[in-house]
Amino acid sequence: MSTSLAYFLYRFAWGSLDLIFPPICGGCGQPGSRWCQDCQSKVQHLVEPVCDICGISASEAGLCSACQRARPRYRILRSWSVFEAPVRNALHKLKYRRDMALGDALAAQLSEFTMDLKWPVELIVPVPLGKKRLEERGYNQVSLIARPLALAAGISFAPDALRRVRETRSQVGLTKTERRANVSGAFEARGTRVNGRIVLLMDDVATTGATLSSCAEALYAAGARDVFALTATRALAHHVLNSV
Ligand SMILES: [Zn+2]
Ligand SMILES: [Zn+2]
Repeated sequence: MSTSLAYFLYRFAWGSLDLIFPPICGGCGQPGSRWCQDCQSKVQHLVEPVCDICGISASEAGLCSACQRARPRYRILRSWSVFEAPVRNALHKLKYRRDMALGDALAAQLSEFTMDLKWPVELIVPVPLGKKRLEERGYNQVSLIARPLALAAGISFAPDALRRVRETRSQVGLTKTERRANVSGAFEARGTRVNGRIVLLMDDVATTGATLSSCAEALYAAGARDVFALTATRALAHHVLNSV
C-alpha cells in the first residue's frame, strides 16, 4: 500500500470515530474537534533568530553560548512550538490519556513544519521511555505524534531503534550539568535499524536538549550516518516543567 493511501485510511478511520464519539479539543476543551482552529492559530513559535544547532531563540544568529561551550551530539534540533497553552495542554493530555486522534491532529500540523526543514531524514526514531514508565503508562506518548508524522511525511518509523539501558530519574529540577549526567549512557541503539541511516530523533518536549544529545550519541555509536532532532515543543528557562 502506498504511504499516501495508508495515511488517508488512517485519518479516515479517526474521522469516522469522531462521528460516534464527538471530540473535545485537547488544547481548550471546547467540543467539536480534537485540535480546534482557534488552538491551531494560537500555537506560539520560537522567536528568530535561533541558535544554528539547538534551535533556542538567541540574541544573534550563530551558536548560543551553551552550544559554544559544549556542542550537542545531534546535528540540529528544531522545535515546532514554545511550551505554552494550547500546545502545553494538548501534550499534557497525550501524556496521561492515550488520545491517538489528538496525536494525529498535532502531527498533521507538525508535519508541515518538518517538511519545511527539508532535512534528508530516512527514519523517525522516538525517544524511548524506561521499562518501568512504559509499564505504568502502557504507551510512549511520543509515538502518538511520531507515528502519524512518519506516515504523513512518508518516512519509516522505528519505535524500537532506541531503548533505555538504565532507569533515569526525572529531569525536573535538575541543572543543565545534572541533566547531562543523569541521561549520559542511558540509551542504546540497534545497529540493524540505524546503521548507515539518517535519523530524525523525536521527543515531545526539549528543555536543555541533554536527553536528545545522549540519544544521538547512542545512535551514532550504532552506526547512524546523521542525527537530526525534532520536538513538538520547547520549554524555556521560565517554564515550570513539573506541570507538563
Ligand atoms: Zn481548542
Ligand atoms: Zn544552542
